[in-house]
Amino acid sequence: MSNNKYKILVCEDDKNIRSVVATVLETNGYQVITAGNCSEAEMMMVSYVPDLVILDLGLPDRDGTEFIRKTRSYSGVPILVLSARTDESDKIEALDIGANDYITKPFGMGELVARVRAALRTANTTSSGGYSEHFELNGMVIDYGRRHVTIDGNEIKLTQTEYNILAFMSRHSGQVMTYTNIINEIWGHADLNAIKKLQVNMANLRKKLGTKPGDNRFIINELGVGYRIQDPM
Ligand code: CA
Repeated sequence: MSNNKYKILVCEDDKNIRSVVATVLETNGYQVITAGNCSEAEMMMVSYVPDLVILDLGLPDRDGTEFIRKTRSYSGVPILVLSARTDESDKIEALDIGANDYITKPFGMGELVARVRAALRTANTTSSGGYSEHFELNGMVIDYGRRHVTIDGNEIKLTQTEYNILAFMSRHSGQVMTYTNIINEIWGHADLNAIKKLQVNMANLRKKLGTKPGDNRFIINELGVGYRIQDPM
């Protein structure tokens, strides 16, 4: 499917941001429909069935998180949240209840387009059941069938948990995974020590991948939110 077939709903009450975002997406070959509040966006979900939603959290009629809850009750459409720095806790809540990713305002247009592309691609591989068998990024190769990881051809020995974290995140490359997303996926539930356990595993994993703090070659630390594996594009 080519880009220009994708329909994107942009829900944002700030007219300037809305029109800039719409213009950038149209320039990149997407079809754009816009809404200025939650109820308009809900109507458009039904009438236009968009392929992706870009959602501001601070909307005049209701909170954007309400839109996410409602939409998630019937649709798996990728939702990209636009958040102001002051929305920190809303942003994490939004991701935990089913938003796929977030972009913090002010954001660069290149970043926006990259996030849209990553979210659409993950949605397509998931819905077609067609996960690829390998993941490649900066010399790292994950062989999902053999549960095997190499960097520049050298095997990296990981524990089951470390592998599971890496594989899960690579399946969603380009998108942030919150602590809760990862914990639920790997351990099935969150106990009191879950975040600590995740951080320890993540530190070991990053060490085995040969990266020091601040090195974003493989795993990016999204402070206070979670982790992201770079999108190989
Ligand atoms: Ca707003």
